[in-house]
Amino acid sequence: IWQAALGAIQLQTSRQDYETWLRGTTLLALDGGLATVGTTSTFHKEGLENRFMAPVRRSLGDVVGYPVQVRVVIANGTANRIENYGPLLELASNSEESESSDRAVQLDLSSAMRTGMLNPKYTFSRFIVGSSNRLAHAACLAVADNPGQHYNPLFLYGGVGLGKTHLLHAIGNYVLDRDPEINVLYVSSEKFTNDMINAIRRQQTEEFRMRYRNIDVLLVDDIQFIAGKEGTQEEFFHTFNTLHSAAKHIVISSDKPPKAIPTLEERLRSRFEWGLIADIQPPDLETRTAILRTKGEQMNVEIPNEVIDFLAHKVQSNIRELEGSLNRVAAFAEQHGLPINVEVATSALADLLGSARRRRITPDQVILAVSEHFGVDLRILQGRGRSRNIVVPRQVAMYLLREETECSLVDIGKLLGGRDHTTVMYGCDKISEEINTDNRLRNEVLSIRERLYNQAA
Ligand code: ADP
Ligand code: MG
Repeated sequence: IWQAALGAIQLQTSRQDYETWLRGTTLLALDGGLATVGTTSTFHKEGLENRFMAPVRRSLGDVVGYPVQVRVVIANGTANRIENYGPLLELASNSEESESSDRAVQLDLSSAMRTGMLNPKYTFSRFIVGSSNRLAHAACLAVADNPGQHYNPLFLYGGVGLGKTHLLHAIGNYVLDRDPEINVLYVSSEKFTNDMINAIRRQQTEEFRMRYRNIDVLLVDDIQFIAGKEGTQEEFFHTFNTLHSAAKHIVISSDKPPKAIPTLEERLRSRFEWGLIADIQPPDLETRTAILRTKGEQMNVEIPNEVIDFLAHKVQSNIRELEGSLNRVAAFAEQHGLPINVEVATSALADLLGSARRRRITPDQVILAVSEHFGVDLRILQGRGRSRNIVVPRQVAMYLLREETECSLVDIGKLLGGRDHTTVMYGCDKISEEINTDNRLRNEVLSIRERLYNQAA
């Protein structure tokens, strides 16, 4: 069964992917529609789970003739069937090898580096380009295309969760896809520091230097953490010089531009400024929408446009949180057996709403924003009148007061013309239901919200 399924998968994947991820797998059990597939390491397990679940499920289902679920486990019995990088790494760190075997190890080491340290999901094809990250993306692509040439070093900076790590990995993945023999190393500056400290402790500083200076493309993440660490800066300075003068490429990320990193040695700062400095800004609405749409497709979950719109407005400054909010909504809906809609999304994101509440939006601000948005006089909004063109704005005010402030239903009733709490509840429920189907109303509520958040920020 498994050979037949593998055969079908082989037709759909590249040879290299097949060899790396699938060839050494076994079908351990097939029981009541649940297939257990064995592979050799956590690393292979994650690779399979991240990239090949759909083809495996499909091919296996085709072979057995009914739909199957697949789970991947680590089965040691298959360990000898595919390359195991662990021993090679150990070998490689034993520097007493002869010339020729050194070479062999070198080659395998580069695949081990790639496989061990780069996240295969962080690729250029999965990176969405918008005005906020266009320059950084273009620079990274140029470096990946021609390492050692332009923009050396490339220095990327930007706030948390905006894609710096993703871009560094994308360079590594791209370079290695084209030429697996290139030595790519991705490290956080903390790992660089730890490696150095360990090397000193074990009196292996020569090996440490060899390792770091023998690299074609060095990707250093979060360099701000070496600020203030003199020894590490010293060592990094020499690594930098060795690589740079050999036309090897260095890409660095940081949360701030070199100038703004306190206690960064002047000589490092000036070197970081030699090449290109590219910033990444928070994504604009259009980019946030595109990211959500793409992530929804990748998750294979149907996300209605109004939910995408809702999340894109709700989470503005951090792509990791944007992704997180989408995951949370999808998981919440599945857990409770609910459809994905704005109402469900609101409940799923209660925490985030909570943080909006902590922004301390006052009831007055809400009422004023509603009045300005709809062009309804404050006194009328807070009065007793019940004509249609006032009722809806007033209900929107009720809804926003309930969502964005600490007001109770009774408080809200008092603020809006002395209405009782059942009227308020009715108004809130009506709006929270209608924003699911009425695009115009939803956009109105969103833009008032946005205005309130901007005021409070
Ligand atoms: P940083 O290193 O700047 O803190 P990350 O690179 O870890 O941010 O990005 C956080 C998350 O957001 C990751 O899951 C990443 O894949 C995703 N992400 C960031 N920017 C983009 C983008 N432009 N397109 C798609 N996903 C992105
Ligand atoms: Mg990062």
